[in-house]
Amino acid sequence: MQCLSHQLRKIKLLITVPKASYPNLKSIREDFPILHRKVHGKPLIYFDNGATTQKPRLVIETMNRIYEQENSSIHRGVHYLSDRMTEAYEEARNSVRKFIGAAASHEIVFTSGTTGSINAVATSFGEKYVGPGDEVLVTVMEHHANLVPWQMLCERKGARLRAIPMNDRGELMLDQLDSLLTGRTRMLAVTHVSNALGTINPVKNIVARAHERNIPVLVDGAQAVQHLAVDVTELDCDFYVFSGHKVYGPTGIGILYGKEKWLEDLPPYQYGGDMVDQVSLEKTTFNELPLKFEAGTTNYVGAIGMGKALEYLQGIGLEDIAAHEHHLVDYATHNLSQVPGVRIYGMASQRIATFSILLENTHPYDVGMILDKLGIAVRTGTHCAQPVMQHFGIEGTLRASLAMYNTPEEIDRFVTELQTAKSMLT
Ligand code: PLP
Repeated sequence: MQCLSHQLRKIKLLITVPKASYPNLKSIREDFPILHRKVHGKPLIYFDNGATTQKPRLVIETMNRIYEQENSSIHRGVHYLSDRMTEAYEEARNSVRKFIGAAASHEIVFTSGTTGSINAVATSFGEKYVGPGDEVLVTVMEHHANLVPWQMLCERKGARLRAIPMNDRGELMLDQLDSLLTGRTRMLAVTHVSNALGTINPVKNIVARAHERNIPVLVDGAQAVQHLAVDVTELDCDFYVFSGHKVYGPTGIGILYGKEKWLEDLPPYQYGGDMVDQVSLEKTTFNELPLKFEAGTTNYVGAIGMGKALEYLQGIGLEDIAAHEHHLVDYATHNLSQVPGVRIYGMASQRIATFSILLENTHPYDVGMILDKLGIAVRTGTHCAQPVMQHFGIEGTLRASLAMYNTPEEIDRFVTELQTAKSMLT
């Protein structure tokens, strides 16, 4: 009898959520060498994309070629290699501009990553515009990278950090936004997509409401740009930040997009070579945008690698990627909810394919360890979002974060092995 109902459930599952995907998924997977390796003797299922994504061959080969054939420091030399590198670096900047729909290349600053970008704004903007009694508004679902820099700024300045709360579905309670935006709010910093819950926040609407009160908005796009088509001009945000390594590019490189008026207005946050114009022992003047914010030798190889990653994504098409991943959201939600004792944290109506789950009577760490032995890479813990865990009164979750190269078949195996783990642990 139990067997029959199991069969019926399986049939229903196939009827309601077909295993569709975009036609070129197989060839996309071919582009990522690491996806074809084994871990502990099992084919790798990589479900830790929220932490970092894997790299397509194009990115790997571009960076290898640079180190083998073309490497030279940018912006400084008169020789062929330096010229060539500078050109490639500036082309990469333009690829980023196109990728996020910025008006001008000089609005794109290369940083070390999302964390570096947010710290840059918190320092530069914060030093100039935040004072005692002022407020900075964040949300309860921020990654620590978009929380702690603002908290530290507020501590330094005698300002107050406030947060937009969320409901149990993991959606921001935006009915409270207008009362949280006060005459003292100097900045609203909000994540586009929650790394812990997968919620996609309606940032265009949030930006518009903050702008009605002349409050600038920084959007943390670290979990958004690899999943959705993002247009900063349409969002009208003042700053948009993200990391290369989460968007199929290399580590150690990231983006700070800022509207020209802000980047012109704000002081540099680091000083040194390349960001200066005239230097004497008495005085220094700064370089023009965006170099004013790129002190020292930047990670130019990383920037070029990232540019290639973005071109690669545009070649596939962000709409197609979003549609495929949307399908993964439906498929995984449906299948996970069939597993007895699974609770998914974050059931927002707009979500990416990130699943924070707990399995009744088990510890996420133990489940994660067993999944690892079965070749499945997931993350366990607080996901650098402790206030999210505090909201739900839990210590952490097991997070499966999927990306454009993941398949419904991998979800099937994940769901099966979750049950294996459960049967071993309970
Ligand atoms: N913001 C969000 C939403 C993230 O998910 C992460 C990383 O997981 C960060 C910021 C920090 O990114 P990075 O470590 O690349 O600076």
